Amino acid sequence: MRNAHSKLFTPGPTEVRPEILQAMAAPQIYHRSPEFRELYAEIQPKLQKFLYTQQPVLLFASSSTGAMEAAVQNCVGKKCLNLVNGAFSMRWHEITAACGIPCETLEVPWNLAIKPQMVETKLRSGEFDAVTLVHNETSTGLMNPLPQIAEVVRKFPDVLLLVDSVSGMGGVKVEFDALGLDVCLAGVQKAFALPAGLAVCAVSERAIKRAEGIKPRTYYFSFPVMMKSHKKNETPATPSIPHMFALNVQLDAMFAEGLDHRFARHAEMAALTQAWAKQHFAMYPEEGYWSNTVTCISNTRSISVEDLNKTLVRDHGLRISNGYGDLKGKTFRIGHMGDHTVTDVRGLLATMDAILGL
Ligand SMILES: *Cc1c(COP(=O)(O)O)cnc(C)c1O
Repeated sequence: MRNAHSKLFTPGPTEVRPEILQAMAAPQIYHRSPEFRELYAEIQPKLQKFLYTQQPVLLFASSSTGAMEAAVQNCVGKKCLNLVNGAFSMRWHEITAACGIPCETLEVPWNLAIKPQMVETKLRSGEFDAVTLVHNETSTGLMNPLPQIAEVVRKFPDVLLLVDSVSGMGGVKVEFDALGLDVCLAGVQKAFALPAGLAVCAVSERAIKRAEGIKPRTYYFSFPVMMKSHKKNETPATPSIPHMFALNVQLDAMFAEGLDHRFARHAEMAALTQAWAKQHFAMYPEEGYWSNTVTCISNTRSISVEDLNKTLVRDHGLRISNGYGDLKGKTFRIGHMGDHTVTDVRGLLATMDAILGL
């Protein structure tokens, strides 16, 4: 069945265009050569433009989870506040704890957003010097109010704000400098629409200073070690060069589309999917915080999500996702991110209507 491709409406990995796959197949170059440094130097300003930042954007040869680990290892001196309202924000807490870093959660029910006021109250204790926030919770289709939370965290000058925008970045605008973020990371298999295996991570000067001032907890993921190479347009270890070829091509494609157009396209795909969900089922997350890249639908009709997906794959070459973890069967998720079009989404929804007899 490996060659019968199903178009991925899963919330990561998502569908990758043939041009991108082609770019990855280019002959390899040596990573200590002028050609490589040229490639690195070409990608860097594009990533900065993409994240609305003057700060460095580091590249990790890992999936997003590696960069999540890097963020807490480099940026927590005293104690980390992990904001939790879903599976990935819970994972960030587990990562922090597994690294032996003092931490505490602020958890709300997973269908609810993290509200800025709760964060402010917690930070007033003065215990914390870093906060982790998952911008777009892929497990629940919920987008936390990043600008408002960032504004609150900025009232505490010693607290660094570490943001996972894995399934947000590339689908919604993230203005790293204007929001005053300290780390913002993403794996490229979500709204970047590249194959998995590379993470991008913007880091503020404050984040690098913090990392320089604490006892190193990591080598492979050390910001100071990476910054030394970054200044020479290199990475400390062998990078994933095929991914960098693809990223360079994809960033050009994003600018050719226009970032604002790209974000508007995501909003339109989301609105269509949300309207469908409300008409036939119900939305899982609290209203006002629905994600522009992934819709999580409450299975109010008690359909078999597994059977629906089997039919989609077998008869239509399309694939969606079941609910994540404990939400499996109770919810299902449609990813509408990356290079999918409004027409693609309309087609998927019409196909599901036909299968479900809606
Ligand atoms: C997918 C995802 C992750 C984990 O990403 P990997 O690339 O599998 O390590 C983390 N956070 C969010 C919000 C995600 O969507």
